[in-house]
Amino acid sequence: MMKKLNALVLISGGIDSTVVLHWALDKGIDCKCLTFRYKNQPKKEIEAINKLCSKNKLDLFIIEHPSIYEFGRSNKNLEINPNNLMYYSLAVSFSVGKNIDLIIGGQNKEDLIESKENIKHFYKKLNSLIIDCNSGQNLKIIQPFINFSKLEVVNLGIKLKVSFKDCWSCQRDGSKPCGKCSNCKTNLNISKKLKISI
Ligand SMILES: [Zn+2]
Repeated sequence: MMKKLNALVLISGGIDSTVVLHWALDKGIDCKCLTFRYKNQPKKEIEAINKLCSKNKLDLFIIEHPSIYEFGRSNKNLEINPNNLMYYSLAVSFSVGKNIDLIIGGQNKEDLIESKENIKHFYKKLNSLIIDCNSGQNLKIIQPFINFSKLEVVNLGIKLKVSFKDCWSCQRDGSKPCGKCSNCKTNLNISKKLKISI
């Protein structure tokens, strides 16, 4: 019998990471969740993360990093958000010695600012660095949706019966999503296309 894989899934309360978590659970992977607390994080996002983990009875680990928000977002011309390097490095560091085989991220191809090849090269290099610093532990970063559009991610979420109403993608806080930030606009577009509410 094949050994059951153990994964650390990076979750943010948004649709991509919620769907990727359900994808992993559907594959029979044993999942634990990791999230990052950053400055000015919407309360609704924290609620979504907590709800997702409690609903699926999954352990949630939190890394507090009050200065995360400032990094990476200041320069929109960056090809790869350096926050990703930090998130994954922290996830690798957290996973060492914890019987974790996979670190799973929910990035899809629309999150990539430039070419997909460059980002693939970036993660390949990151994975080889992990091998260099983890003697004996067979740890790997995977992004199952890197070839998916956002629409494909949502469609998969529908198939996996993801409760989109429990997600929070809006960059602002409030009782309801603002409808104006880039994440809300993307979600509204997809809602229109699929004639569902996400
Ligand atoms: Zn919004």
